[in-house]
Amino acid sequence: MKYLIANWKMNKLDFLSWQNKFLEDFQIDKSKDTKIIVCGHAADYSVIDASKHEKILLGAQDVSRHKEGAYTGQISASILKSKNISTCLVGHSEKREDGDTNEIVYEKAKQLEKEGIEKILCIGESLEILNEGLRKNFLQEQLNLFLNKNILPDLIAYEPIWAIGTGKAASVNSIGEAVIIVHEFIKNFDKEIPLLYGGSVSSKNISEIMSIKRIDGCLVGNASLDAKEFANIASQI
Ligand code: PEP
Repeated sequence: MKYLIANWKMNKLDFLSWQNKFLEDFQIDKSKDTKIIVCGHAADYSVIDASKHEKILLGAQDVSRHKEGAYTGQISASILKSKNISTCLVGHSEKREDGDTNEIVYEKAKQLEKEGIEKILCIGESLEILNEGLRKNFLQEQLNLFLNKNILPDLIAYEPIWAIGTGKAASVNSIGEAVIIVHEFIKNFDKEIPLLYGGSVSSKNISEIMSIKRIDGCLVGNASLDAKEFANIASQI
């Protein structure tokens, strides 16, 4: 199975017209095992019946770490579930920057697990950490909380912060090294956890990135906003 995940962040898009444009250029072939998920906005959840979208699934960008109650502005895993959201990001660097610690990321994953929603755990180091040669320790720390407790991510997205939204994707070698670090973690489990790369993926570099051993897909931010560009990426997966 290959994965292509769009992260629309806080950009205003109309899901249905985006989807129409996407489908003009990309024929969904049900015999091919590619899962396409758009992590849109809460506003989309109420107008789209995600259960009807067989290939383009609707995902979420974030979830509350709380079950329910007086948490203004937050969205719970059970609300996501009631809207047929199948997948949700946790630990995106933009959320970590906003205060999500590893512990909070884990708590969010726990809420999703209870509702049976797939968790895409995002991990990735800053340029400073990379340059200081501390990447391995840093990534292991982000993963260890999951290792020590009993909830596992369903997918892991390696997203170096320095490559997100910069137009400069990590090199094949650098991604390959990170894949080895993450794989050391994954191999402790019976469960297969697919590995994604994210950070300035576009139609120009997707083929090269997908050729990296053990990379099962990509998480795409900016380039997913343009349905035609995203269709071009999808056609190369
Ligand atoms: C992201 O935000 O997850 C991301 C990968 O963004 P971009 O593709 O714009 O670098």
